[in-house]
Amino acid sequence: MKVMTIYAHPADTITNCGGTLARHAAAGDEVVALILTHGGRMHANRYAEEWRKDNPDKTITGASLDDIAAYKKDELSRAAEIVGISKVITLGLDDRYAALREDVVDQIAEQLAIERPDVLICDYPVNPVAATNVHTVATVSVLAALGRAGMFVRNLDDRAEFHVKQVFFTSLPVMAGDGLSLYGMRNDVYVDITDVVGQKVAAMDCFDSQGYSGLFARKLIEASNGENGRVAGVNFAEAFYRLNNETHTLLPVTEAARRDDPLTRHISYSRVDLRATYPI
Ligand SMILES: [Zn+2]
Repeated sequence: MKVMTIYAHPADTITNCGGTLARHAAAGDEVVALILTHGGRMHANRYAEEWRKDNPDKTITGASLDDIAAYKKDELSRAAEIVGISKVITLGLDDRYAALREDVVDQIAEQLAIERPDVLICDYPVNPVAATNVHTVATVSVLAALGRAGMFVRNLDDRAEFHVKQVFFTSLPVMAGDGLSLYGMRNDVYVDITDVVGQKVAAMDCFDSQGYSGLFARKLIEASNGENGRVAGVNFAEAFYRLNNETHTLLPVTEAARRDDPLTRHISYSRVDLRATYPI
């Protein structure tokens, strides 16, 4: 299987689904990542912190946008290697990009037609009607690009039509363990990343320029993947919301549901002490 991620910023790929990608790579699946912006203005901790010092290091404060973008690209390529992403594609848009653009839709559609992934992972479009968030804009662009790639005609476009088999959205800001408590609004697929959580920590430790390494890496994984893990009944999980309905020949019951022991699950999902296992 081929998995493709499409996110607004370099670190998004790892924070949202780095563990899931590590598992797919370990299972022999091909993983490619498309990043829309260079992220040079996002979480510019490395540069802001230096400016605040009495005697700032001029090699850091003197960095141009190209220098910053190159530094971020290097962070991402090291993180990609850790989780097993075999190819990183960057469009290099400025991260002030904040609205649906035809030329960006074209570029994403072109990459979809080239890469032809089985599944896509991207952010949940929080409010696609009044999109004020670049992650929402990114996914609205992806959905428009999927429509465009589905209409490629070989005679006219020199490429065949492309249809993805499933889209998994990340970052739906909802923690619900069932389909009733929030009227059906919930992440509906969880991936247990406990076995590969060390790879996710190490990958996040690469994003030093934006302060995602060290304390924040552990905090985010403990808090977010830990809470998703609690809902999923495992130590650490990543959460997804499927775009398309699924068709089966029999009613599906997962292996995890068959194995689940409701009496002890709260103890078993508390077993891994992340900070002790992966000290800074
Ligand atoms: Zn982002």
